[in-house]
Amino acid sequence: MSSDQRDTIETICPYCGVGCGIKISQGDERGDVRFRPWGNAPVNEGRICIKGGAATEVVDHEDRLTDPLIRDDGEFREATWEEAYEYVVSELERIRDQYGPDAMGFFGSSKTMNEENYLLQKLARRYGTNNVDNCTRMCHASTVWALRTSLGAGAMTNSMADLREECDLFWIQGANPGEQHPIANSQYFRQAVLDGATVIQVDPHANKTTRSFEIDDTDRHQHLQLNPGTDIPLLNIVLKTILEHHEDRPEDGWIDETFVEERTDGFDDLQETLEGFDNEAAAEECGVPLEEIELAAEKYAEADNAAIFTGMGMSQHRCGVDNVQNEINLALITGNLGRPGTGVNPLRGQNNVQGTCDVGAMPNVLPGYQLVDDDEARERVEDVWGFEIPDEPGLTNVEISHEFGNSVHGLYVVGENPVMSEPDANQVAERIKDLEFLVVQDIFLTETAAYADVVLPATSWAERDGTVTNTDRRVQRMRGVEKVHENTKHDLEILSEIGSRLFDGDESGSTESQAVPGGGFAFDDPESVFEELREVCPIYHGMSYDALGTEGLHWPCYVPGDEGDPYLYAEEFETESGLGRIEGVSHTLPAETPDDEYPLILTTARVEEHYNTGTMSRRSPTLERQVPENVVDIHPADAERYGVEDGDEVTLSSRRGEIEVVAQVTEDTKEGVVWTTPHFAAASANRLTNDVLDDKAKIPEYKAAAAEIEVDLE
Ligand code: SF4
Repeated sequence: MSSDQRDTIETICPYCGVGCGIKISQGDERGDVRFRPWGNAPVNEGRICIKGGAATEVVDHEDRLTDPLIRDDGEFREATWEEAYEYVVSELERIRDQYGPDAMGFFGSSKTMNEENYLLQKLARRYGTNNVDNCTRMCHASTVWALRTSLGAGAMTNSMADLREECDLFWIQGANPGEQHPIANSQYFRQAVLDGATVIQVDPHANKTTRSFEIDDTDRHQHLQLNPGTDIPLLNIVLKTILEHHEDRPEDGWIDETFVEERTDGFDDLQETLEGFDNEAAAEECGVPLEEIELAAEKYAEADNAAIFTGMGMSQHRCGVDNVQNEINLALITGNLGRPGTGVNPLRGQNNVQGTCDVGAMPNVLPGYQLVDDDEARERVEDVWGFEIPDEPGLTNVEISHEFGNSVHGLYVVGENPVMSEPDANQVAERIKDLEFLVVQDIFLTETAAYADVVLPATSWAERDGTVTNTDRRVQRMRGVEKVHENTKHDLEILSEIGSRLFDGDESGSTESQAVPGGGFAFDDPESVFEELREVCPIYHGMSYDALGTEGLHWPCYVPGDEGDPYLYAEEFETESGLGRIEGVSHTLPAETPDDEYPLILTTARVEEHYNTGTMSRRSPTLERQVPENVVDIHPADAERYGVEDGDEVTLSSRRGEIEVVAQVTEDTKEGVVWTTPHFAAASANRLTNDVLDDKAKIPEYKAAAAEIEVDLE
């Protein structure tokens, strides 16, 4: 292919879940891969944020892994692919023979494509375990749980386009689209606001979202700056305000009685939960004046179409499922579901975190969110795969990590970095040494890969073909330029080879009279994997590469020819009863609250210029120049008490560790609350965060921990 032909490859930005289209070109030097705008891209129409524009900077970075590595006597040495494959396969077989299949864990990646994650979860299940998970566990497991249980699907109920056209009020709680989803914010939500929509932001930290809506002189927008971990009491005030107003003035229609009657159950339970609830005491606990919360409740209830956006400020708590359930309660009692411009909408983090869950890289669900312990669903998938699937849910990724060296002896990591991304990261780094075998497949030697026995060098996002699913359920194709480094391999090729070597000719667990050829892992290309995926994933069944075309398709897309649904639940919810489930919830304090030793509340978040553990963004010169080091935001009153000046080096500590960071004295944070980020390895927030989990969804409580600050003296 000539460089001219390669000039116009249309693909998708590798960073956030908005799913912006970009073009990339490759010069005659293969490493010369450049960003080009894609003017009529379906989601972003050519607009791009700083990360998207800088994404190609890391494709030929000098740190790229170019050859397989095997650890010998504690040091890595270059190896051939044959050696690496033999080693991986023999260790996987040894661990299964010695301890059983549940002694392995498999981590998929929200940065890799649907086809690759599909094949990884199939590999885990063919191996005999449901111990397969991905980093959605860290960001939206609780959201997916609550939405799936109470409405039917663990995804945005609406699309960015219908929200931009029809929404009158955006209720943004624990999300920061101005920073984390910049194009969704500027191209969709902010445009709606310019046309008159109102924004209610609920967040302990003022941020770019707060500032992006300071766009007119009206006071219609509100920022409710609550204390971390008080989202349930705040929403309970909103709910009770609406219930009480409806009792006094039903003619105002704050509660949609018809919708509640015909399309929901559990309204009585909510009323009972809120019976003795004390709005004044709750407002004090939230640290927000009661009248401000009541005013916000009035605005939500009065809006024709109100939409809730929910982010990790809600999900990353030990009560994450309850937090999101309370948002669902609010939408259901006011009838704000099943129409354009409404709904409960999680803004998903990475460019394929939605798809990674859709295709079943989770311990409790098969592709299409079919439960592994649902016999009928499992048998339908077994009919296509030709082997038995274990029928008990597996361990989540943090549970797997807690079992390193106990019940779990081996780990296969594709494109994830748990040593930095998991909470209480110092302990993760210690525990990972207890594994007998660790294989990491990635493009860089991550903090996790540094502990591996085998490192498999993968191609980057810009060099591969496949599909990704964005935050509003739009499945889009990615296309790659030629490989930049000859000896790297596509993730799909690696997984296909390992699966074939492990299972070719293996009849154990087979539901067929003969073993499946290639063990069920011999595929020619990503499209042939997608063709199998759609056979076992009802919500993708109507799609094909041709049908996706340039625009992509929203799921659910059940039969060929379906155009997909931009918004869900127009007629009924996808629960067993067809009704939306209301359930009253009560406040759960964060597992750690301030005390004499650690008197501050630490909360965490990301910045626009970096991404999660920084594996790619911190290698981008443009992004690194913008934000080269971590900071801690501290309120001026706290700064004065501690004798901290803006720009001072300080030690920020919790019961689990300490980091050195630069103090940023700002009213963006509340008095008593400090805020920092996870992007910088030595100074990552996750050295401090708490690994206590939500009971149901097993998501860690990243958003609240007790902390202390000390000024570093020379
Ligand atoms: Fe990429 Fe998200 Fe920025 Fe779009 S908004 S360019 S998808 S990081």
